Amino acid sequence: MTTRRDFLKTSAVLAAGSMILPGSFNIIAGAKPKVIIIGAGFAGLAAAYRLKQKGCQVVILESRNRVGGRVFSHQIDKDEDLVIELGAEWVGASHERMISMCNDFGLTLENNQFESHLTFAGEYFPKGKWDYSAEWKTKFEKLIKDYANFREEDKKKLDRIDWWRYLVNNGITERDLQIRDLLDSTDFGESIRHVSAYAAIAEYAESSEKNEMDFKIKGGNSRFSESLADRIGRENIILKSRVTQVDQTGGKVKVTSHTGEVYTGDNLICTVPTYSLMNIKWNPGLPEEKIDAVNQLQYARICKHAVLFDERFWKDEDFDMVTDVYGHYFYHATKNQKGTKGSLISYTIGDKADVVSRQNDEFKANMINDSLKTAFGDIKSKILGQVNYYWGMDEYTKGGYALYGVGQWYTIMPVLKKKFKNTFFAGEHLADWQGFMEGAIVTGEEAADQIAG
Ligand SMILES: Cc1cc2nc3c(=O)[nH]c(=O)nc-3n(C[C@H](O)[C@H](O)[C@H](O)COP(=O)(O)OP(=O)(O)OC[C@H]3O[C@@H](n4cnc5c(N)ncnc54)[C@H](O)[C@@H]3O)c2cc1C
Repeated sequence: MTTRRDFLKTSAVLAAGSMILPGSFNIIAGAKPKVIIIGAGFAGLAAAYRLKQKGCQVVILESRNRVGGRVFSHQIDKDEDLVIELGAEWVGASHERMISMCNDFGLTLENNQFESHLTFAGEYFPKGKWDYSAEWKTKFEKLIKDYANFREEDKKKLDRIDWWRYLVNNGITERDLQIRDLLDSTDFGESIRHVSAYAAIAEYAESSEKNEMDFKIKGGNSRFSESLADRIGRENIILKSRVTQVDQTGGKVKVTSHTGEVYTGDNLICTVPTYSLMNIKWNPGLPEEKIDAVNQLQYARICKHAVLFDERFWKDEDFDMVTDVYGHYFYHATKNQKGTKGSLISYTIGDKADVVSRQNDEFKANMINDSLKTAFGDIKSKILGQVNYYWGMDEYTKGGYALYGVGQWYTIMPVLKKKFKNTFFAGEHLADWQGFMEGAIVTGEEAADQIAG
């Protein structure tokens, strides 16, 4: 079977340019290239670490005042040292690079799997007390099994319809469809009406049993980026340095930051999300086809609203709950952390995320209470504090992660991946594990390998 991952590996090599073999142009001269990297998220950090291991000189320019990008741990309670994630949460059981690097860095991966409760149409169903219909379960298992035999043409055909339509065409019942939309939309960050059926089925067919919601790093996922930054050398990472211009002439790259600092190098790895890519002045300008691709790709609107409670009234360590009301999806964000207090995160997507993010704390507390009331009664008085992060308004991303819509997986991604003069591109939006930390790391390492062999 050609997996989504195999396809992207092939297209990445093609996209790098057929005239140049990976790594050939600098290695031939015997000199180690000097590489500039834009962005200290997982892609940029992984690229820098790989290049440093190969003896290259690297400098990372990062616009924020911290490393990690969309991985962003936050201490929600000082007294009990409770840490939650405002960005990426789960490390998947299939995420080989993440797992192997955690081992190398001495970081502990803790079980972060959940058993889902459901609140639907005014009724609460505890874990194990709800399910899809038996008929649909059998059908879905067959669809996933059949995917293993899909040829390239079948996959491309599937990419031309949305996931909602695909499920309807396969006879899903109304109730099953509504529940699937609630659940699957938490994976993609928008309704499944906007998601490529290919992107969706590939994710479900190629993922671990819990759909890569398996582990979390003890102490917070930011420990991973901090460990990488230590190994790269903090002196090589320039924070609060937003790149405004890239000049590529005479086989060199010249990068200018908003402070007016200028950096020159042999190669550039650009890891920024597409919104930020277009805010950089490129000289010469980016190719038309790349600009077209950027203009077509959207990012999902995700809002994480963390609530600190004076007790863990949900009882189960592995509590999560899908709802059909505003709070959308709740999960126990302080799992494995000792304490009397505890935090649930409400994970809203699409229009819900947009609406919730703009309201004041009183509205949000009422919204949380209303969403949980059917299952736990009135819990508003148990709220000690709230922290909100809306990725749809994030200054550099304007979304949680890329959202591959109908017809985009096979057309847009290869173009966005294409090397442009001495610049290689990396980041979550270009990955076979798209939307995951693993994907960001792999694309960063691939870019580094293409430069330094
Ligand atoms: C709410 C949410 C939940 C998620 N859940 C999961 C999950 O459970 N599991 C999982 O594996 N993944 C998850 N992800 C996805 C994961 O966070 C990303 O795939 C990954 O962190 C992206 O890394 P990156 O390096 O590609 O991009 P980023 O982390 O965005 O890094 C790019 C960096 O570039 C910087 N930058 C932008 N413009 C400029 C400029 N002009 N000059 C200098 N620097 C610039 C940015 O500040 C940023 O630090 C989630 C993401 C979000 C938002």
